[in-house]
Amino acid sequence: MIDKNFAEKFSRMRKSSGITQQRLGTMLGVSNRAVSKWETGLSLPSTENVYKLAKIFSVPVDHFFSKQDDILPSETKPTGMKSLAGIYRIGCGPSSSHTIGPERACGIFKEAHPEADSFRVILYGSLAKTGIGHGTDRVIKKTLAPKPCELIFNKGTMELEHPNTMDIYAFRSGRQVAHSRVLSVGGGKIVMDGTEYGEGDDVYPVSSFEKIAEYCKRENIRLWQYVERIEGEQIMEHLAEVWREMKRSINDGINDEGILPGGLEVKKRAKQLYNSEHIDESAETRENRMVCAFAFAVSEQNACAERIVTAPTCGASGVVPSVLYYQQKKRGYTDTEIVHALAAGGIVGNLIKTNASISGSECGCQAEVGSACAMAAAALGELFGLRLEKIEYAAEIAIEHHLGLTCDPICGLVQIPCIERNAVAAMRAINAVSLAGFLYDSRKISLDKVIEVMKETGHDISKQYKETAEGGLAKLKPSL
Ligand code: SF4
Repeated sequence: MIDKNFAEKFSRMRKSSGITQQRLGTMLGVSNRAVSKWETGLSLPSTENVYKLAKIFSVPVDHFFSKQDDILPSETKPTGMKSLAGIYRIGCGPSSSHTIGPERACGIFKEAHPEADSFRVILYGSLAKTGIGHGTDRVIKKTLAPKPCELIFNKGTMELEHPNTMDIYAFRSGRQVAHSRVLSVGGGKIVMDGTEYGEGDDVYPVSSFEKIAEYCKRENIRLWQYVERIEGEQIMEHLAEVWREMKRSINDGINDEGILPGGLEVKKRAKQLYNSEHIDESAETRENRMVCAFAFAVSEQNACAERIVTAPTCGASGVVPSVLYYQQKKRGYTDTEIVHALAAGGIVGNLIKTNASISGSECGCQAEVGSACAMAAAALGELFGLRLEKIEYAAEIAIEHHLGLTCDPICGLVQIPCIERNAVAAMRAINAVSLAGFLYDSRKISLDKVIEVMKETGHDISKQYKETAEGGLAKLKPSL
């Protein structure tokens, strides 16, 4: 063994990052056998590659050779939450398991097989049954383009490891050169040939708002500074990219027209809302119309399988950007200030994801749009420079008044009620911040408590109201 310490640390980091040996080899210009040897301690990478690895994993070079178990001081040893990057993911809508997961898998596969001149993808289970409605076919072809891709919907195979399974094949001159089995296990997470491409290890030391607030007060820092202190500068770079994508989605959406795909004949209405200024429109009506137009814009882009940012999911992706974009337009906040707001909103989304759920199929729409509303309220509170108690109260109000909200989209398409619901939640977030500003010192329920209640409520909601398209609005005939 040359350096067991290096081998163990490097192996742990590679596995938790979800990057395969083959992909890492491609990134560094070495073979996957070389990467494997570094992991087993049979050889060491060159100095140049150690520097590259430090950059890829965002750690100091010394970290690989340090005898310490962790680069964080013991009081901040991570045991709580993962990176905010898992809350804000950039990808194609309308569903994280049906579009973002397959898109991610195809992207990795394409990068690993530049020699391929065509692809074949076989979809099984739920991906085969609802893939067309959710745009899985479009996102796969788009990701693998410009090379041709044959798509097969295999609805007959019942024995599957997971309901969302797919096979990807690469061909060169008609001969198969590679194959991967992919499971899209939810939230954009995938398992590819047995390797989980998740969200890495926990990076936050705690997982309650109470503890985070305690730390921020002791250190006299704001929520976004806490995020930066724990995650490092790269998270701010990610959030800056997230904000650029959010703005692009809004602009694309308010300039778009036509009918949404899927057969419900739902008209895109963001542009109409945006341009419907009345001659004697009040400031309040204008604010309502603008915020809603921006929320419609992103949600409609999501429904069209265009690129959006999960916040915290695809279905709820319109709430956070609409509220922040309106404020930037109205009051001229800088992009950096918005990034700080996104960090504060991300902390709330992460707490909900960690301690309850952000999945409609697990806890109903309270977990998706309710969480997005809480994130938007916290983000807005940060943007306005509110004290921590007010931010917490705003997020708490936002969740409390979504408790019990069901997930029952018509025909399983993320359109009715999802698009309007994003707009209503955006307005509710603004209202929650306003209430919290006046009443924060008389509140009775903490954010942590209401998150617990949301989880319990979600588990009590009957199954047909949790993304099965079997109950509630989902039973209505599309023509109604
Ligand atoms: S109703 Fe269901 S699909 Fe629609 S936004 Fe809510 S959780 Fe997502």
